[in-house]
Parts: sequence; structure tokens; C-alpha cells
Amino acid sequence: MRETDDVRYDVVVVGAGAAGLACAGDLDAAGLRVRLLEAEGTVGGRMRTDRVKGFTVDRGFQVFNTSYPQVKRRIDLKALRLRAFTPGVLVHTREGLRRFADPTRRPKECRDLLPGRLMSGRDLLALGALSARDALAPPSVLRGGNGTTTLTALAEAGVSPQLVETFFRPFLSGVFLEDELETSARFFHLVWRSMLRGTLCLPAAGIGAVPAQLASRLPVHVLRTGVAVTGTAPDGVSLAGGDVVRARAVVVATGQRVAAELLPGLRVPEGRTVTTLYHATAEPPLAEPVLVVDSRRRILNTCVLTAVHPGFSTDGRALVSTSVLGSPGPTETAAVLPALSEVYGADTTDWELVHRVTVPDALPAMPGAVPLSRSTRFAPGRYVCGDHRATGSLQGALASGARAAREVIQDLNGAA
Ligand SMILES: Cc1cc2nc3c(=O)[nH]c(=O)nc-3n(C[C@H](O)[C@H](O)[C@H](O)COP(=O)(O)OP(=O)(O)OC[C@H]3O[C@@H](n4cnc5c(N)ncnc54)[C@H](O)[C@@H]3O)c2cc1C
Repeated sequence: MRETDDVRYDVVVVGAGAAGLACAGDLDAAGLRVRLLEAEGTVGGRMRTDRVKGFTVDRGFQVFNTSYPQVKRRIDLKALRLRAFTPGVLVHTREGLRRFADPTRRPKECRDLLPGRLMSGRDLLALGALSARDALAPPSVLRGGNGTTTLTALAEAGVSPQLVETFFRPFLSGVFLEDELETSARFFHLVWRSMLRGTLCLPAAGIGAVPAQLASRLPVHVLRTGVAVTGTAPDGVSLAGGDVVRARAVVVATGQRVAAELLPGLRVPEGRTVTTLYHATAEPPLAEPVLVVDSRRRILNTCVLTAVHPGFSTDGRALVSTSVLGSPGPTETAAVLPALSEVYGADTTDWELVHRVTVPDALPAMPGAVPLSRSTRFAPGRYVCGDHRATGSLQGALASGARAAREVIQDLNGAA
């Protein structure tokens, strides 16, 4: 069917990532006639999974957090066949691997939290107070901070520069995809809360199973893949080849860069780039499904994916994921295996690089003052949603998509 056929939709949503899927789902549930157009052959955007040489590899390592409110609202967790990471992380220090454990879940594993190992007694108190507040305060309190950066907030909470360098900077640079800790403290508090209250997991079929589940709930006539929108038209959107999809309202749910092209004048944040290397090795360097960070920050984080889901490998070898900031050149890439050898205490010379993925604009920058949720209204009949309008996370993308649906429905009802 040519899209120029007589159909006039209520809403056309551009981009079937998490935000577009949530938005289209809510609009459809409200009884509106919706078309969701996706440029790629599959849904998911930045949350996609590939099969490479028999390995299950996500388009950049990411984790699924069960405590996100939008996840609780929309996702059938059981159907994802989730398996969890060990709560907490292992930190590689000059003294070897230290466990940053969660005392509320693994009280027996907190030896390294004792003063003099990973942190001082004062740090332990500061961390306890910070964690209690973030876990227990209502989210509205955490969202209402004063626009400071994460680095400042940690200092204000009494965390010593030493603990920042040993743990917070290495760990959070893998979450924010920047290592200055200039990201909004309000976002940090929400992330810390979600880690204290939720479980970090991966679906059995990889992270792409999450958007795939959202897409599976849409009626068949809503989603069309393999269709790139090239511009907005007065009464809808235009496609390559000149076709027009007509609609009363357009929601642009692409990443920030394309959104700025489709909606000239839209201001978008900078993007953060990350690269993930996937190595296969006969012997797993660690049997535990745990995230490992490096206090020397030669890598962002690493983990043995097959310790989380053995099915991520089909040839019996272990699959190790390692992420680094930006897009490393040959020299920086060559430095990764020696660093992993130290971090895991294992011989990595025989490890095979089976896949490498660089994701430009993996996350939007979220400097201190940036609001954690912004209106999706851009111009009459034009809306924009996605993680860059909220927070750089699955929660942010879904919440922004939900907000776009609410605002479209209000405006269309007002116009009727
Ligand atoms: C490596 C990495 C690690 C991450 N780690 C985590 C994590 O651990 N926890 C977490 O919560 N979040 C994480 N995130 C962030 C999370 O994945 C994103 O915030 C979320 O997926 C963004 O969804 P979105 O719908 O806003 O945008 P996108 O996923 O970018 O979706 C936009 C969609 O628009 C489509 N599109 C683009 N142009 C056009 C066009 N012209 N016409 C039609 N369609 C178009 C794209 O193909 C895409 O499908 C990570 C992201 C990456 C990349």
C-alpha cells in the first residue's frame, strides 16, 4: 500500500524506539488512528540485539532495571526470562578486586566496605546516609534538587575525593557515558535509587526483547518498518520518493540528531558515544554474573555475559562484554586486552574479538541544570519525544513517549 492512499491518521509517530513504541501504544489505547513509521527493518532503536557468529550481542552493552516505574507499568517481566546480575559491583583497584556490595541484599559480602579497604569510616557513614535518602525519599524530592552536578552532590554528601576516584567516577562514567561527573545530580539520585530498589538484569534474548515486546502489543496496522521519514509536511510527514503520510499530528520520536533535522529550530543536547567490544574465550575469567569496573578507568565496565545467560553463546565459549568511552582508535583498542588481563587476573592473549559496536549519541548529555522531563509540544501539531527530552534511560524514553501521547490527546480533544 502506498502511504499516499486516502488514509488520514490522527497521529503519525516517527521512530519505533522505546519512546515511539510507548507513545504509539498509548495513542492506540486511547482509540486514535495511529501510524508508527520506523526507518530500520526492526524496532528498538538503541535497544537492539544481533546474532553474530552464534553470539547474542546487544548494540552496546546495557542493563535492564526492573524498578523503573514505566517498566513496571508496561513490561511483562516474566516473558523476558530475565536473569540478574549480582547486586553491587566488583572494583578493580591496585590491591586487586574489591566488592562494592549492597549490605541490604548481601550482608555477608560486605567485607570490602569495612573501613580501610574500599573506603574510610567517614565515607561509609556518608554513603549510608546518601543511600538511605535516595532509597526512601519520594522521587519528587530527588527530582527537586538545585541543578548541581553529580561531582558536587557527592562532595556535598560528604563522600571523599578518594572514594569518588576509586568507585564513583569509574562506576558512574559507565552509566552516564562521561567521566567528568558533570551529569545532573538529580539524575544521579534517581539512578542510585533505581539501583538500590531494583535488580539489574538481562532478558534471555538480549535487550532487544524489551522493545520487541512493546511492538508485539500493537495492532498490526499501526507499525510499518523500513520507512524513513525525510521531512515534515504541512499535513503530515514526507517519505523518500515523495510519498506523504497524512495526519492531524506528528510526533518525532527519533534520536536527538534526526529530531533536530526533522524539526528545524529544535535545540537538542550533545550526545555521548560509547564502544562495546565482545570477546569470546574458552575459559570464563569469572564465573559470577557481576559488573566489573576499573578504578584506573582504562575501560568503563566489563562482565562475562555468559555468566548471566549461558545461551548468549552457542559454541560453549564464554562471551565477555567490555565498554569504553567514545570510539577508540587502534592503539586504544589494543590496550583493552592487557587491561582486561589485569582486571580479571586472566590470560587474555587468546581472546577472540567477535564483535565491536560503536554507538554515537548513545545517551544525551544531561548537565546539572537540565530538566528531567520537558514538554513534547514543539509547534501546533508537532511534538517531539525521546530520552533527550527526559533522561538518558529506558525509563526516560518511555516516560517521554507517554507524555507525548498525553499532550497529543489533550490537544486533539481541545481542537475537536
Ligand atoms: C550502549 C548503550 C547503553 C545504554 N545503557 C542503558 C542502561 O543500562 N539503562 C538504561 O535505562 N538505558 C540505557 N541506554 C539508553 C537507552 O537505550 C535509550 O535511552 C533508549 O533506548 C532511547 O530510546 P528512544 O526511543 O528515545 O530513542 P531511539 O532508541 O534512538 O529510537 C529512535 C528510533 O527512531 C528511528 N528513526 C531515526 N530516524 C528515523 C527516520 N528518519 N524515520 C523513521 N524512523 C527513524 C531509529 O531507527 C530508532 O528506531 C543505553 C543506550 C546505549 C546505546
